Amino acid sequence: MATDDTPPIQPYRVLARKYRPRTFSELIGQDAMVRTVTNAILADRLPHAFILTGVRGVGKTSTARIIARALNCIGEDGSGGPTPEPCGVCVHCRAITEDRHVDVIEMDAASRTGVNDIRELIDGVQYRPLDARFKIYIIDEVHMLSTSAFNALLKTLEEPPEHVKFIFATTETRKVPVTVLSRCQRFDLRRVDVETLISHFNSVAEQETTQVSEEAMGLIARAADGSVRDGLSLLDQAIAHAGVADGGAVLEEAVREMLGLSDGGLIYDLFDEVMHGNVDEALKTFNRLYDSGADPAMILQDLLQLTHWLTRVSLSPSVADGQGVSQIDRERGLSLANSLTIPTLGRTWQVLLKGLKEVQSLSASAQAAEMVLIRLSYMADLPSPADLVRTLKNGPNTAAPVAKQEIKTLSQPSPPSAKEASTIKNHGLQMAGGMRAHDTKPESAAEMVDLSKTSVKPDPLEAIGGPQNFEQVVAMFEERREAILHAMLMKHVHLVRFDHGHIAIRAEPEAPPNLATQVSKLLSEWTDDQWLVSLSDEQGDPTIHELNMAAEATRRIKATNHPLVQAALETFPGATVEAVIEQGLEELCVDEGN
Ligand SMILES: [Zn+2]
Repeated sequence: MATDDTPPIQPYRVLARKYRPRTFSELIGQDAMVRTVTNAILADRLPHAFILTGVRGVGKTSTARIIARALNCIGEDGSGGPTPEPCGVCVHCRAITEDRHVDVIEMDAASRTGVNDIRELIDGVQYRPLDARFKIYIIDEVHMLSTSAFNALLKTLEEPPEHVKFIFATTETRKVPVTVLSRCQRFDLRRVDVETLISHFNSVAEQETTQVSEEAMGLIARAADGSVRDGLSLLDQAIAHAGVADGGAVLEEAVREMLGLSDGGLIYDLFDEVMHGNVDEALKTFNRLYDSGADPAMILQDLLQLTHWLTRVSLSPSVADGQGVSQIDRERGLSLANSLTIPTLGRTWQVLLKGLKEVQSLSASAQAAEMVLIRLSYMADLPSPADLVRTLKNGPNTAAPVAKQEIKTLSQPSPPSAKEASTIKNHGLQMAGGMRAHDTKPESAAEMVDLSKTSVKPDPLEAIGGPQNFEQVVAMFEERREAILHAMLMKHVHLVRFDHGHIAIRAEPEAPPNLATQVSKLLSEWTDDQWLVSLSDEQGDPTIHELNMAAEATRRIKATNHPLVQAALETFPGATVEAVIEQGLEELCVDEGN
């Protein structure tokens, strides 16, 4: 930057002021508004009150001043009328630019909200302009006025003198009374899109003879969040920041540091590890970021931003080729987006958003952020709620294809065959029932896969030697559609003793008197074997119904305490365990069995 032909040092003006637009053509990204105003000026159909709306820094007050100049410009020769292209050199244009025109009165309603401030202002309305064509009142942040101030203003707006124009600017239209809004023509200034900001900032950098890398400019433009002024301030800072370090070239790293953004590569690593359930690695990466000074809430915010980016890339990969997209976002973004589904990204967003609030509200923010990462890592093992609902409704036959990522997570060290992968898939989907169909307590998805290798429970009716226990006997009555007897056996019969061919029971008074005889007869018939059912006075076991109720309660407690279910409950706030559905492995593997 410092070359021999450097001009003599001038007082420094911040870029936002130096490049403040003075004409409509210099106004960035507001083409629609500019067209409407231009047409109104050309057709001489200007309203007596305008209201300019839009977020901060999009150019509302700049627009107000351009309109003031357009209305009062008399042209270079002093004979012109209102024009959409103010000359910039006549006495009025110059005075307005320099903030010293007697007939252009600017007021910031944020600092002068009272009715007296407005009265003072309005008192002057009746007098003709001293010098110019119009007396122009610019009221910034107009929504800040008090109710009585608005009422005072309203009277003037109802019957404004010919020589007066009001230009209001506001970030919050909804706080402006409808009675005021209805008397103004409204012009909405849009948030400026990233591409437009980048090309504008590039031209500013060029005029400043400063090099800014494409990636660095992309970061600045995105951080500006649609505001030209904010973006120019950031560019200013970035130039100051980098100018000392490396001769004027602004690089990505410096901007990242300035904006307090974490190392992009590490954020990608962290996201990748979390999405693939590598809790250990994820926590290590988190600690590296934390140790290097990154704020836990900022790390989660970066992950949220990355989730959003990956979702956009998933939906339309071409956005990765957009201007100002960094190399890492383009390359790693594309490959990561390809490995994740939209529902997974949606759930990730939810968990991060909820987690961010926790992190921000706790003093132990690092611990809270770690818990969020752990929760996300566990979630990688879960099927999506949509898959779960589909599966529970329709059974595994009609299960929707599972997320690629879920198969990956579940796979064993040696890659499974197609058939195994498919079985694994069903286990993934059937997690809610499958893990409770057995008395084992699988702690991870990998353990659940092992269950598929255990032998399939034999069909009680085809078992050699008939039923092996009382439950199997009762199950036979259900299978053979002996509904009444089945219900009696379930609810009103206590097992006293079970031997092969001989069952002793205690029947409650609700059971029919010939129950034992009927059961003996049918059982002998079905098994082609001799069975005797005798009545006993001994207390015996609880009924099967009672046992089921107790087992259900236990299952529910176990299910609720299972880490995966815990993770699911965490993921879907307000969810409860409604039912524990038992499904045997033979049902889970039904589509592989034939
Ligand atoms: Zn002029």
